[in-house]
Amino acid sequence: MMQEAAFVYSEKQLAYKFSEDHPFNHLRLALTYDLLRHIGAVNDKSVIKPRVASDEEIALVHDSSYIEAVKAGGHGTLSRGIANNYGLGTEDTPVFKNMHEAAALLVGGTLTAVDLVMEGKAGHALNLGGGLHHGFRGKASGFCIYNDSAIAIEYMKRHYGARVLYVDTDAHHGDGVQFTFYDDPDVCTLSVHETGRYLFPGTGDVYEKGSGEGFGFAVNVPIDAFTEDASFLENYEKALEETAAFFKPDVILTQNGADAHYYDPLTHLSITMEAYREIPRAAHRVAHKYCGGKWIGVGGGGYDMWRVVPRAWAMIWLEMTNQTELLQKPLPKSWVNMWESGSPVPLPHTWSDPENMYPYIPRRAEITEKNSKVLDKALYHIRNEQKNKPS
Ligand SMILES: [Zn+2]
Repeated sequence: MMQEAAFVYSEKQLAYKFSEDHPFNHLRLALTYDLLRHIGAVNDKSVIKPRVASDEEIALVHDSSYIEAVKAGGHGTLSRGIANNYGLGTEDTPVFKNMHEAAALLVGGTLTAVDLVMEGKAGHALNLGGGLHHGFRGKASGFCIYNDSAIAIEYMKRHYGARVLYVDTDAHHGDGVQFTFYDDPDVCTLSVHETGRYLFPGTGDVYEKGSGEGFGFAVNVPIDAFTEDASFLENYEKALEETAAFFKPDVILTQNGADAHYYDPLTHLSITMEAYREIPRAAHRVAHKYCGGKWIGVGGGGYDMWRVVPRAWAMIWLEMTNQTELLQKPLPKSWVNMWESGSPVPLPHTWSDPENMYPYIPRRAEITEKNSKVLDKALYHIRNEQKNKPS
């Protein structure tokens, strides 16, 4: 029998760890899973253990020399010079013990989610350990070693002949996934992110639309710093709906970085839990409208791992399983008590953020206006194509 949704998780995923004080910390996964357990939203039936991706699967996207370098790095046999060639051993992406094994498990988790959905065993599936969208063919970048989403997309193309829509709402541009499929008309990438003018990785300009056969199948919506919920959601929802209507995917893969929140220390957007409630809702709607429900979700960035990420990521699961009525209740005290002592900041007690979380942004109207112009540019090609289609 098909289950509504599968939650791919194992504590072993926490082994993807650069160092104690590195901003990318997969303790977020345990915080989220534990929150869902405390509200009774996951049970033993809904949790599926991730498999480990094989070298052959990782090589669907990555060079084998790079895979060998990652292995050597994790086993302490990689020289500094060679590491540098592969983007390893940098401040962002340091070498750590058994890094290949840890990264291969995150990739395997996304492949586990893909197989469950594509084989009809689950309607939707969520692997919050994935979403490492900055990984390139032969290079680690921005906390990402292997690009699980790019691998999963290539895997879906080959094994299931699927046309995939990739939707990335991380505050950073989804560069690694976009450029893997830049000339491919069977994969459409949509990224809504803070403009790269002042933020890593610097790409994701509205004029990046794909190349050759793939022209028109990369959509970028770079929004302004300090963008708030209403403008973020307007850009995201319109871009998603129009891109899906144009591309007609067989399946959608959403990357759910939770680093666009006002509290996030690495970015400059100003969205709140209100937007994190709506982001998966729109994805869910599109999955049922165009893909017979086929929807795989992965995690991504998110550097306020105590206050923001557990709530935002739990909301994806509640949306996938139609349990959003649980958001009416306060956060369980038992969860707050369990984790409070480890947190440098007081944990929230509600699913939503306080009204007065940040001071009024005087440039609000100007930012909103700028963002809608960007959206028009981002969708210009798609709207034109749609207009010219014979009806
Ligand atoms: Zn990010």
